[in-house]
Amino acid sequence: MISKILIANRGEIALRIIRTCKEMGIKTVAVHSTVDQDAMHVRMADETVCIGPPRSHGRKDSYLSYSAIISACEITGAQAIHPGYGFLSENAEFVEQVEDHEIIFIGPSAHHIRMMGDKISAKKVMSELGVPCVPGPNESLNSPEEAKTIAQEIGYPVIVKAAAGGGGRGMKIVHNKSEFSEAFQTAQQEAIASFGNGEVYLEKFLSNGRHIEIQILADNFGNAVHLGERDCTLQRRHQKLLEESPSPVISSKVRAEIGKICTHAITNMGYSSAGTIEFLYHEGEFNFIEMNTRLQVEHPVTEAIFGIDLVREQINIAAGNPLSFKQNSLKPSGHAIEVRINAEALPNFRPCPGQVDIYHSPGGLGIRMDSSLYNGYTIPQDYDSLVGKLIAHSTDRSRAIAKLKRALEELIVHPIATTAPLFQEILKDKEFINSEYDIHWLERWIKNHYG
Ligand code: ADP
Repeated sequence: MISKILIANRGEIALRIIRTCKEMGIKTVAVHSTVDQDAMHVRMADETVCIGPPRSHGRKDSYLSYSAIISACEITGAQAIHPGYGFLSENAEFVEQVEDHEIIFIGPSAHHIRMMGDKISAKKVMSELGVPCVPGPNESLNSPEEAKTIAQEIGYPVIVKAAAGGGGRGMKIVHNKSEFSEAFQTAQQEAIASFGNGEVYLEKFLSNGRHIEIQILADNFGNAVHLGERDCTLQRRHQKLLEESPSPVISSKVRAEIGKICTHAITNMGYSSAGTIEFLYHEGEFNFIEMNTRLQVEHPVTEAIFGIDLVREQINIAAGNPLSFKQNSLKPSGHAIEVRINAEALPNFRPCPGQVDIYHSPGGLGIRMDSSLYNGYTIPQDYDSLVGKLIAHSTDRSRAIAKLKRALEELIVHPIATTAPLFQEILKDKEFINSEYDIHWLERWIKNHYG
Protein backbone atom coordinates (compact mmCIF):
# COMPACT_ATOMS: atom_id res chain seq x y z
CA MET A 1 0.00 0.00 0.00
CA ILE A 2 1.10 3.55 -0.68
CA SER A 3 1.02 5.78 2.41
CA LYS A 4 2.73 8.96 1.16
CA ILE A 5 2.54 10.57 -2.27
CA LEU A 6 4.54 13.46 -3.65
CA ILE A 7 2.64 15.62 -6.13
CA ALA A 8 5.00 16.83 -8.85
CA ASN A 9 2.74 19.66 -9.99
CA ARG A 10 1.10 22.92 -8.94
CA GLY A 11 -2.16 24.84 -9.21
CA GLU A 12 -5.61 23.30 -9.35
CA ILE A 13 -4.41 19.83 -10.32
CA ALA A 14 -2.02 19.56 -7.35
CA LEU A 15 -4.86 20.52 -5.03
CA ARG A 16 -7.22 18.09 -6.73
CA ILE A 17 -4.77 15.20 -6.21
CA ILE A 18 -4.18 16.18 -2.57
CA ARG A 19 -7.95 16.02 -2.00
CA THR A 20 -8.19 12.40 -3.15
CA CYS A 21 -5.08 11.41 -1.18
CA LYS A 22 -6.63 12.84 2.00
CA GLU A 23 -9.85 10.91 1.37
CA MET A 24 -7.77 7.76 0.97
CA GLY A 25 -5.81 8.40 4.17
CA ILE A 26 -2.59 8.95 2.20
CA LYS A 27 -0.10 11.61 3.36
CA THR A 28 0.91 14.23 0.80
CA VAL A 29 4.07 16.09 -0.08
CA ALA A 30 3.78 19.30 -2.10
CA VAL A 31 6.81 20.51 -4.00
CA HIS A 32 6.87 24.13 -5.06
CA SER A 33 8.94 26.77 -6.78
CA THR A 34 9.96 29.92 -4.94
CA VAL A 35 7.09 31.93 -6.47
CA ASP A 36 4.59 29.29 -5.34
CA GLN A 37 5.45 29.33 -1.64
CA ASP A 38 2.02 30.78 -0.76
CA ALA A 39 0.09 28.58 -3.21
CA MET A 40 -2.96 26.66 -1.98
CA HIS A 41 -1.50 23.23 -2.83
CA VAL A 42 1.42 24.05 -0.52
CA ARG A 43 -0.95 25.07 2.28
CA MET A 44 -3.03 21.93 1.95
CA ALA A 45 -0.27 19.31 1.83
CA ASP A 46 1.08 17.51 4.90
CA GLU A 47 4.68 18.33 4.00
CA THR A 48 6.28 20.77 1.59
CA VAL A 49 9.62 21.04 -0.15
CA CYS A 50 10.85 24.08 -2.07
CA ILE A 51 12.50 22.86 -5.26
CA GLY A 52 13.96 26.05 -6.69
CA PRO A 53 13.18 29.07 -8.80
CA PRO A 54 10.42 29.04 -11.44
CA ARG A 55 12.92 29.51 -14.22
CA SER A 56 16.65 28.92 -14.16
CA HIS A 57 18.53 29.89 -17.28
CA GLY A 58 19.51 26.98 -19.46
CA ARG A 59 18.39 24.43 -16.88
CA LYS A 60 15.18 22.56 -16.21
CA ASP A 61 13.32 24.53 -13.57
CA SER A 62 11.72 23.28 -10.34
CA TYR A 63 8.67 21.38 -11.62
CA LEU A 64 10.79 20.06 -14.49
CA SER A 65 13.81 19.08 -12.41
CA TYR A 66 14.13 15.29 -12.14
CA SER A 67 16.78 15.49 -9.43
CA ALA A 68 14.94 18.06 -7.27
CA ILE A 69 11.73 16.02 -7.33
CA ILE A 70 13.40 12.67 -6.70
CA SER A 71 15.45 14.20 -3.87
CA ALA A 72 12.25 15.61 -2.34
CA CYS A 73 10.83 12.08 -2.37
CA GLU A 74 13.88 10.70 -0.64
CA ILE A 75 13.97 13.43 2.01
CA THR A 76 10.29 13.01 2.87
CA GLY A 77 10.00 9.26 2.38
CA ALA A 78 7.25 9.58 -0.24
CA GLN A 79 6.83 6.17 -1.92
CA ALA A 80 5.10 7.42 -5.05
CA ILE A 81 4.88 10.43 -7.37
CA HIS A 82 1.69 11.69 -8.99
CA PRO A 83 2.69 13.88 -11.93
CA GLY A 84 -0.71 15.50 -12.69
CA TYR A 85 -0.79 16.80 -16.27
CA GLY A 86 1.84 18.82 -18.16
CA PHE A 87 5.35 19.20 -16.66
CA LEU A 88 6.86 15.68 -16.30
CA SER A 89 3.64 13.69 -16.69
CA GLU A 90 4.58 12.30 -20.11
CA ASN A 91 8.34 12.18 -19.76
CA ALA A 92 9.60 8.59 -20.15
CA GLU A 93 13.15 9.48 -19.09
CA PHE A 94 11.88 10.91 -15.81
CA VAL A 95 9.77 7.80 -15.17
CA GLU A 96 12.83 5.60 -15.70
CA GLN A 97 14.81 7.63 -13.17
CA VAL A 98 11.92 7.51 -10.69
CA GLU A 99 11.75 3.73 -11.04
CA ASP A 100 15.55 3.43 -10.72
CA HIS A 101 15.12 5.04 -7.28
CA GLU A 102 12.44 2.48 -6.43
CA ILE A 103 9.75 5.13 -6.32
CA ILE A 104 6.33 4.32 -7.83
CA PHE A 105 5.25 6.52 -10.73
CA ILE A 106 1.46 6.93 -10.70
CA GLY A 107 0.93 6.49 -14.41
CA PRO A 108 1.83 4.05 -17.17
CA SER A 109 5.25 2.53 -17.83
CA ALA A 110 8.08 4.50 -19.45
CA HIS A 111 7.74 2.12 -22.41
CA HIS A 112 4.11 3.11 -23.07
CA ILE A 113 4.77 6.81 -22.48
CA ARG A 114 7.57 6.70 -25.05
CA MET A 115 5.50 4.72 -27.53
CA MET A 116 2.59 7.17 -27.37
CA GLY A 117 4.76 10.28 -26.98
CA ASP A 118 5.96 9.85 -30.54
CA LYS A 119 2.79 10.43 -32.54
CA ILE A 120 4.10 8.49 -35.53
CA SER A 121 4.80 5.39 -33.48
CA ALA A 122 1.46 5.86 -31.67
CA LYS A 123 -0.42 5.81 -35.00
CA LYS A 124 1.56 2.79 -36.15
CA VAL A 125 0.78 0.82 -32.98
CA MET A 126 -2.86 1.86 -32.90
CA SER A 127 -3.52 0.99 -36.54
CA GLU A 128 -1.91 -2.43 -36.04
CA LEU A 129 -4.29 -2.94 -33.10
CA GLY A 130 -7.33 -2.15 -35.25
CA VAL A 131 -7.89 1.47 -34.18
CA PRO A 132 -8.98 3.64 -37.15
CA CYS A 133 -6.44 6.45 -37.75
CA VAL A 134 -6.41 9.75 -39.67
CA PRO A 135 -5.35 8.87 -43.25
CA GLY A 136 -1.64 9.41 -43.95
CA PRO A 137 1.56 7.35 -43.86
CA ASN A 138 2.86 6.53 -40.39
CA GLU A 139 6.36 7.68 -41.35
CA SER A 140 8.32 10.85 -40.76
CA LEU A 141 8.81 13.27 -43.68
CA ASN A 142 12.26 13.81 -45.12
CA SER A 143 11.61 16.68 -47.49
CA PRO A 144 8.85 18.95 -48.88
CA GLU A 145 9.17 17.04 -52.21
CA GLU A 146 8.35 13.73 -50.55
CA ALA A 147 5.46 15.42 -48.75
CA LYS A 148 4.05 16.71 -52.04
CA THR A 149 3.95 13.19 -53.48
CA ILE A 150 2.12 11.86 -50.41
CA ALA A 151 -0.31 14.80 -50.40
CA GLN A 152 -1.11 14.06 -54.04
CA GLU A 153 -2.09 10.54 -53.01
CA ILE A 154 -4.21 11.37 -49.95
CA GLY A 155 -5.61 14.60 -51.41
CA TYR A 156 -5.48 18.22 -50.20
CA PRO A 157 -5.87 19.77 -47.68
CA VAL A 158 -3.24 18.06 -45.52
CA ILE A 159 -1.62 18.95 -42.22
CA VAL A 160 2.09 18.78 -41.30
CA LYS A 161 2.44 17.83 -37.63
CA ALA A 162 5.32 17.46 -35.16
CA ALA A 163 5.92 13.85 -34.09
CA ALA A 164 6.70 15.08 -30.57
CA GLY A 165 3.83 17.63 -30.68
CA GLY A 166 1.68 18.85 -27.84
CA GLY A 167 -0.30 21.91 -26.82
CA GLY A 168 -1.40 22.52 -30.40
CA ARG A 169 2.13 23.55 -31.49
CA GLY A 170 4.05 22.47 -34.59
CA MET A 171 1.01 22.04 -36.89
CA LYS A 172 0.66 23.59 -40.32
CA ILE A 173 -2.26 23.18 -42.74
CA VAL A 174 -1.37 22.93 -46.44
CA HIS A 175 -4.06 23.63 -49.05
CA ASN A 176 -1.99 23.15 -52.20
CA LYS A 177 1.51 22.22 -53.28
CA SER A 178 2.75 25.82 -53.52
CA GLU A 179 2.39 26.14 -49.73
CA PHE A 180 4.50 23.07 -48.93
CA SER A 181 8.06 24.35 -48.60
CA GLU A 182 7.08 27.06 -46.16
CA ALA A 183 4.71 24.87 -44.11
CA PHE A 184 7.28 22.09 -43.87
CA GLN A 185 9.98 24.47 -42.70
CA THR A 186 7.79 26.34 -40.19
CA ALA A 187 6.42 23.13 -38.66
CA GLN A 188 9.93 21.72 -38.39
CA GLN A 189 11.34 24.91 -36.81
CA GLU A 190 8.44 25.14 -34.38
CA ALA A 191 8.93 21.47 -33.47
CA ILE A 192 12.65 21.98 -32.79
CA ALA A 193 11.99 25.13 -30.74
CA SER A 194 9.16 23.59 -28.69
CA PHE A 195 10.17 19.96 -28.37
CA GLY A 196 13.84 19.77 -29.36
CA ASN A 197 12.87 17.29 -32.06
CA GLY A 198 12.25 18.40 -35.64
CA GLU A 199 10.61 15.20 -36.85
CA VAL A 200 7.36 15.95 -38.72
CA TYR A 201 4.71 13.83 -40.44
CA LEU A 202 1.76 14.34 -42.71
CA GLU A 203 -1.89 13.46 -42.45
CA LYS A 204 -5.17 14.33 -44.12
CA PHE A 205 -6.61 17.58 -42.77
CA LEU A 206 -10.13 16.79 -41.64
CA SER A 207 -11.86 20.10 -42.18
CA ASN A 208 -15.11 19.76 -40.25
CA GLY A 209 -14.61 17.12 -37.60
CA ARG A 210 -15.29 17.03 -33.89
CA HIS A 211 -12.68 16.20 -31.26
CA ILE A 212 -13.93 13.18 -29.34
CA GLU A 213 -11.76 11.30 -26.87
CA ILE A 214 -12.27 8.05 -25.01
CA GLN A 215 -11.25 7.73 -21.36
CA ILE A 216 -9.76 4.38 -20.47
CA LEU A 217 -8.54 2.72 -17.28
CA ALA A 218 -6.43 -0.43 -17.21
CA ASP A 219 -4.74 -2.35 -14.42
CA ASN A 220 -1.67 -4.61 -14.32
CA PHE A 221 -3.78 -7.76 -14.57
CA GLY A 222 -5.08 -7.35 -18.11
CA ASN A 223 -8.38 -5.68 -17.13
CA ALA A 224 -9.41 -2.57 -19.06
CA VAL A 225 -12.57 -0.47 -19.19
CA HIS A 226 -13.65 2.66 -21.01
CA LEU A 227 -15.58 5.50 -19.41
CA GLY A 228 -17.23 6.82 -22.53
CA GLU A 229 -16.20 9.92 -24.38
CA ARG A 230 -15.58 13.61 -23.88
CA ASP A 231 -16.42 16.02 -26.66
CA CYS A 232 -13.69 18.68 -26.78
CA THR A 233 -14.63 20.28 -30.08
CA LEU A 234 -14.64 23.86 -28.81
CA GLN A 235 -11.02 24.86 -29.33
CA ARG A 236 -8.94 27.96 -29.93
CA ARG A 237 -5.56 27.49 -31.58
CA HIS A 238 -6.01 23.69 -31.26
CA GLN A 239 -6.42 24.09 -27.48
CA LYS A 240 -9.55 22.96 -25.67
CA LEU A 241 -11.70 25.53 -23.89
CA LEU A 242 -14.96 23.69 -23.14
CA GLU A 243 -15.46 19.95 -22.77
CA GLU A 244 -18.57 17.87 -22.23
CA SER A 245 -19.75 14.34 -21.77
CA PRO A 246 -21.59 12.62 -23.29
CA SER A 247 -20.96 14.00 -26.77
CA PRO A 248 -24.20 15.35 -28.25
CA VAL A 249 -23.40 13.59 -31.55
CA ILE A 250 -22.65 10.04 -30.33
CA SER A 251 -25.25 7.30 -29.83
CA SER A 252 -24.88 4.63 -27.16
CA LYS A 253 -24.31 2.05 -29.91
CA VAL A 254 -21.43 4.07 -31.43
CA ARG A 255 -20.01 4.67 -27.94
CA ALA A 256 -20.02 0.97 -27.17
CA GLU A 257 -18.32 0.16 -30.51
CA ILE A 258 -15.49 2.67 -30.21
CA GLY A 259 -15.13 1.89 -26.50
CA LYS A 260 -14.63 -1.77 -27.32
CA ILE A 261 -12.01 -0.96 -29.99
CA CYS A 262 -10.13 1.17 -27.43
CA THR A 263 -10.21 -1.34 -24.56
CA HIS A 264 -9.11 -4.08 -26.96
CA ALA A 265 -6.13 -1.99 -28.07
CA ILE A 266 -5.19 -1.04 -24.51
CA THR A 267 -5.36 -4.61 -23.27
CA ASN A 268 -3.29 -5.87 -26.18
CA MET A 269 -0.53 -3.35 -25.73
CA GLY A 270 -0.37 -4.16 -21.99
CA TYR A 271 -1.07 -0.58 -20.93
CA SER A 272 -1.91 0.20 -17.32
CA SER A 273 -3.24 3.36 -15.55
CA ALA A 274 -5.58 6.03 -16.91
CA GLY A 275 -5.25 7.20 -20.50
CA THR A 276 -7.12 9.04 -23.21
CA ILE A 277 -7.42 7.99 -26.82
CA GLU A 278 -8.12 11.04 -28.95
CA PHE A 279 -10.04 11.02 -32.22
CA LEU A 280 -11.32 13.38 -34.82
CA TYR A 281 -14.89 12.30 -35.51
CA HIS A 282 -15.45 13.17 -39.15
CA GLU A 283 -18.40 12.23 -41.35
CA GLY A 284 -19.47 9.52 -38.93
CA GLU A 285 -16.00 7.92 -38.67
CA PHE A 286 -13.48 7.91 -35.83
CA ASN A 287 -9.91 8.88 -36.80
CA PHE A 288 -7.23 8.40 -34.12
CA ILE A 289 -4.90 11.40 -33.66
CA GLU A 290 -3.01 10.69 -30.45
CA MET A 291 -3.06 9.11 -27.02
CA ASN A 292 -2.42 11.01 -23.78
CA THR A 293 -0.83 8.77 -21.19
CA ARG A 294 -1.91 10.82 -18.16
CA LEU A 295 -4.83 12.44 -16.42
CA GLN A 296 -6.43 15.07 -18.67
CA VAL A 297 -7.37 18.59 -17.64
CA GLU A 298 -10.97 17.75 -18.58
CA HIS A 299 -11.25 14.51 -16.56
CA PRO A 300 -13.87 15.95 -14.14
CA VAL A 301 -16.69 15.70 -16.73
CA THR A 302 -16.15 11.94 -16.85
CA GLU A 303 -15.99 11.78 -13.05
CA ALA A 304 -19.26 13.69 -12.85
CA ILE A 305 -21.29 11.38 -15.05
CA PHE A 306 -19.78 8.11 -13.79
CA GLY A 307 -19.38 9.09 -10.12
CA ILE A 308 -15.84 7.71 -10.22
CA ASP A 309 -12.71 9.39 -8.86
CA LEU A 310 -10.10 8.85 -11.57
CA VAL A 311 -7.18 9.84 -9.33
CA ARG A 312 -8.25 7.23 -6.76
CA GLU A 313 -8.30 4.65 -9.56
CA GLN A 314 -4.84 5.71 -10.76
CA ILE A 315 -3.47 5.36 -7.23
CA ASN A 316 -5.10 1.95 -6.75
CA ILE A 317 -3.69 0.68 -10.04
CA ALA A 318 -0.20 2.02 -9.20
CA ALA A 319 -0.43 0.30 -5.80
CA GLY A 320 -0.86 -3.00 -7.66
CA ASN A 321 -4.59 -3.51 -7.10
CA PRO A 322 -6.95 -4.80 -9.78
CA LEU A 323 -9.72 -2.54 -11.14
CA SER A 324 -12.64 -2.64 -8.71
CA PHE A 325 -15.33 -2.63 -11.41
CA LYS A 326 -16.15 -4.25 -14.75
CA GLN A 327 -17.37 -2.56 -17.92
CA ASN A 328 -20.98 -3.62 -17.44
CA SER A 329 -21.14 -2.06 -13.97
CA LEU A 330 -20.24 1.38 -15.32
CA LYS A 331 -23.42 3.40 -15.84
CA PRO A 332 -23.17 7.07 -16.81
CA SER A 333 -25.80 9.47 -15.57
CA GLY A 334 -26.81 12.88 -16.92
CA HIS A 335 -24.64 15.41 -18.68
CA ALA A 336 -21.55 17.38 -17.57
CA ILE A 337 -19.84 20.41 -19.08
CA GLU A 338 -16.52 21.95 -18.07
CA VAL A 339 -15.21 25.39 -18.95
CA ARG A 340 -11.60 26.43 -18.49
CA ILE A 341 -11.26 29.66 -16.54
CA ASN A 342 -8.05 31.27 -17.75
CA ALA A 343 -6.65 34.51 -16.37
CA GLU A 344 -6.77 36.12 -19.81
CA ALA A 345 -8.28 39.36 -21.06
CA LEU A 346 -10.66 39.29 -23.98
CA PRO A 347 -10.76 40.00 -26.89
CA ASN A 348 -7.17 38.93 -27.53
CA PHE A 349 -6.70 36.41 -24.67
CA ARG A 350 -3.80 38.39 -23.22
CA PRO A 351 -2.52 36.69 -20.02
CA CYS A 352 -3.49 38.65 -16.87
CA PRO A 353 -1.40 37.58 -13.90
CA GLY A 354 -1.66 39.61 -10.69
CA GLN A 355 -3.25 39.78 -7.27
CA VAL A 356 -6.78 38.48 -6.72
CA ASP A 357 -8.46 40.75 -4.16
CA ILE A 358 -11.80 38.97 -4.08
CA TYR A 359 -12.38 35.36 -5.07
CA HIS A 360 -15.82 33.84 -4.88
CA SER A 361 -16.35 30.28 -6.02
CA PRO A 362 -19.71 29.24 -7.51
CA GLY A 363 -21.59 26.49 -5.70
CA GLY A 364 -24.88 24.67 -5.42
CA LEU A 365 -26.10 21.25 -6.52
CA GLY A 366 -24.14 19.81 -9.42
CA ILE A 367 -21.41 22.48 -9.44
CA ARG A 368 -17.72 21.70 -9.03
CA MET A 369 -15.07 24.40 -9.07
CA ASP A 370 -11.51 23.07 -9.20
CA SER A 371 -9.29 26.04 -8.49
CA SER A 372 -6.42 26.98 -6.25
CA LEU A 373 -7.39 30.67 -6.06
CA TYR A 374 -8.10 32.44 -2.77
CA ASN A 375 -8.54 36.03 -1.58
CA GLY A 376 -5.20 37.79 -1.72
CA TYR A 377 -3.47 35.17 -3.90
CA THR A 378 -1.13 36.49 -6.57
CA ILE A 379 -1.32 34.62 -9.88
CA PRO A 380 2.32 34.39 -10.98
CA GLN A 381 3.34 35.27 -14.51
CA ASP A 382 5.59 32.24 -14.77
CA TYR A 383 3.01 29.58 -15.58
CA ASP A 384 0.09 29.00 -17.92
CA SER A 385 -3.03 31.01 -17.32
CA LEU A 386 -5.46 28.25 -16.25
CA VAL A 387 -6.74 29.31 -12.82
CA GLY A 388 -9.80 27.14 -12.51
CA LYS A 389 -12.20 24.67 -14.05
CA LEU A 390 -15.91 25.07 -13.57
CA ILE A 391 -17.95 21.92 -14.08
CA ALA A 392 -21.75 21.67 -14.16
CA HIS A 393 -23.53 18.32 -13.95
CA SER A 394 -27.26 17.84 -14.41
CA THR A 395 -29.83 15.42 -15.76
CA ASP A 396 -29.47 16.51 -19.39
CA ARG A 397 -27.50 18.88 -21.61
CA SER A 398 -29.91 21.82 -21.50
CA ARG A 399 -30.07 21.73 -17.70
CA ALA A 400 -26.28 21.45 -17.50
CA ILE A 401 -26.03 24.56 -19.74
CA ALA A 402 -28.52 26.45 -17.54
CA LYS A 403 -26.63 25.44 -14.41
CA LEU A 404 -23.27 26.45 -15.88
CA LYS A 405 -24.65 29.88 -16.92
CA ARG A 406 -25.94 30.43 -13.39
CA ALA A 407 -22.61 29.34 -11.88
CA LEU A 408 -20.59 31.60 -14.19
CA GLU A 409 -22.63 34.55 -12.90
CA GLU A 410 -21.56 33.69 -9.35
CA LEU A 411 -17.85 33.50 -10.12
CA ILE A 412 -15.80 36.48 -8.92
CA VAL A 413 -12.05 36.78 -9.56
CA HIS A 414 -11.70 40.52 -8.90
CA PRO A 415 -9.90 42.45 -10.45
CA ILE A 416 -8.36 39.78 -12.72
CA ALA A 417 -9.78 39.44 -16.25
CA THR A 418 -10.80 35.87 -17.06
CA THR A 419 -12.35 33.89 -19.89
CA ALA A 420 -15.65 33.55 -17.95
CA PRO A 421 -17.48 36.20 -20.06
CA LEU A 422 -16.58 34.28 -23.24
CA PHE A 423 -18.46 31.22 -21.97
CA GLN A 424 -21.45 33.29 -20.91
CA GLU A 425 -21.78 34.32 -24.56
CA ILE A 426 -21.07 30.90 -26.06
CA LEU A 427 -23.64 29.19 -23.82
CA LYS A 428 -26.33 31.49 -25.27
CA ASP A 429 -25.41 30.78 -28.88
CA LYS A 430 -28.02 28.88 -30.93
CA GLU A 431 -25.40 26.80 -32.77
CA PHE A 432 -23.77 25.81 -29.51
CA ILE A 433 -27.14 24.95 -27.97
CA ASN A 434 -28.03 22.86 -31.02
CA SER A 435 -24.56 21.36 -31.02
CA GLU A 436 -23.96 22.45 -34.62
CA TYR A 437 -20.25 23.07 -34.55
CA ASP A 438 -16.90 21.60 -35.50
CA ILE A 439 -13.28 22.12 -34.37
CA HIS A 440 -13.04 25.40 -36.33
CA TRP A 441 -16.33 26.92 -35.14
CA LEU A 442 -14.93 28.72 -32.09
CA GLU A 443 -12.17 30.49 -34.03
CA ARG A 444 -14.81 31.86 -36.45
CA TRP A 445 -17.12 32.72 -33.55
CA ILE A 446 -14.35 34.66 -31.76
CA LYS A 447 -13.56 36.56 -34.96
CA ASN A 448 -17.23 37.49 -35.44
CA HIS A 449 -17.69 38.58 -31.84
CA TYR A 450 -14.42 40.25 -31.02
CA GLY A 451 -13.06 41.12 -34.50
P1 ADP B 1 -1.64 18.30 -29.58
O1 ADP B 1 -0.95 17.09 -29.07
O2 ADP B 1 -0.72 19.42 -29.91
O3 ADP B 1 -2.82 18.71 -28.74
P2 ADP B 1 -3.37 16.84 -31.44
O4 ADP B 1 -2.83 15.89 -32.43
O5 ADP B 1 -4.03 16.28 -30.23
O6 ADP B 1 -2.22 17.87 -31.01
O7 ADP B 1 -4.40 17.81 -32.13
C1 ADP B 1 -4.97 18.93 -31.46
C2 ADP B 1 -6.08 19.52 -32.30
O8 ADP B 1 -5.56 19.94 -33.58
C3 ADP B 1 -7.20 18.54 -32.65
O9 ADP B 1 -8.17 18.43 -31.63
C4 ADP B 1 -7.75 19.21 -33.90
O10 ADP B 1 -8.54 20.32 -33.59
C5 ADP B 1 -6.50 19.69 -34.61
N1 ADP B 1 -6.00 18.65 -35.54
C6 ADP B 1 -5.01 17.75 -35.32
N2 ADP B 1 -4.86 16.91 -36.37
C7 ADP B 1 -5.78 17.28 -37.28
C8 ADP B 1 -6.17 16.79 -38.60
N3 ADP B 1 -5.55 15.76 -39.17
N4 ADP B 1 -7.18 17.43 -39.24
C9 ADP B 1 -7.80 18.50 -38.66
N5 ADP B 1 -7.50 19.00 -37.46
C10 ADP B 1 -6.51 18.40 -36.77
